[in-house]
Amino acid sequence: YAAKEAGEPYRWYHPDLDRRAGDEARLGADLRIALNEGQFRLVYQPIVDLPDGRIRYVESLVRWEHPVRGLVSPVDFIPAAEQNGLIVELGEWILRTTCDQFMRWQQEHGAAAPERISVNVSARQLAEPGFAQVVADVLAATGMRPDHLIVEVTETAVFGGGVALQTVNDIHARGVRIALDDFGTGHSSLGLLQTVPVDVLKVDKSFVDNVTMAGRHAVIPTVLIQASDGLGLSAVAEGVETAEQAAELYRLGYRLAQGYHFGKPVAAPDFAARRTGLNPVSRRRTRVPERSI
Ligand code: C2E
Ligand code: MG
Ligand code: MG
Ligand code: MG
Repeated sequence: YAAKEAGEPYRWYHPDLDRRAGDEARLGADLRIALNEGQFRLVYQPIVDLPDGRIRYVESLVRWEHPVRGLVSPVDFIPAAEQNGLIVELGEWILRTTCDQFMRWQQEHGAAAPERISVNVSARQLAEPGFAQVVADVLAATGMRPDHLIVEVTETAVFGGGVALQTVNDIHARGVRIALDDFGTGHSSLGLLQTVPVDVLKVDKSFVDNVTMAGRHAVIPTVLIQASDGLGLSAVAEGVETAEQAAELYRLGYRLAQGYHFGKPVAAPDFAARRTGLNPVSRRRTRVPERSI
């Protein structure tokens, strides 16, 4: 990772250092300390309307600001947090902080604030029978409308059914929106879109990367937007980095997108400072109707 490029002036810690030292357990122990010492931060990335660049939604993403190692990526510590179970407590903190921040934006900016906020929930959290109640408690405590919250889960987490699927059903029954994250990379099954109460399909960055290349590269993004439209779901294209990708996705029928092209994940004050008009695609093509999650 290039720290500068990511818009975050930190040095990235690389977990190979620990692994080489055979020190995975210490990472787990450090996570516990980090939670106690308040070393976790949330950053926020916009999800925009392609035609006008307007911010519709926002995704919260966790960061670990280690006093010595610098900024640690969630890719490098979420697996360890899942393994030692700390994700349950950390996930509660993330959910609460996310909802608090959303309500603050609503109060400060009213109609100009993002309409909804999404939060990532890992397989381990969904497997916890008490998780749906935690969501209900946080919504009650913050006064947040359930349908303003989007819970992002992966295909893999819900593929096996069981408690995870039950939890998703329970959360959805309470009015919370469900997004399938990184769609197309896990236990991909279009049947999942019928068995899981999905509202949002987040099409993985790997399909967006080559969408502008001729031929077969656009087939999967095309199939996924058609499936989304046919099933009445919203599709979000993830990891959009260029104007060309945005234009092509729009041409294919995508309405919502997320990626560095529109805005990198940033801390709450920076997010609030740049809420308007991010890199709209050309307005010449306006055949796609407005879509809400
Ligand atoms: P995700 O939920 O699919 O989040 C999108 C990831 O792609 C984020 O990485 C985001 O910074 C990155 N991204 C967004 N746009 C672009 C782009 O245009 N180009 C590139 N190269 N990357 C882009 P991040 O924040 O490092 O998070 C990685 C993954 O870690 C997330 O993927 C999610 O699975 C997990 N994660 C992050 N925050 C949380 C959290 O609070 N709880 C849980 N359980 N998992 C989290
Ligand atoms: Mg996500
Ligand atoms: Mg994603
Ligand atoms: Mg992803």
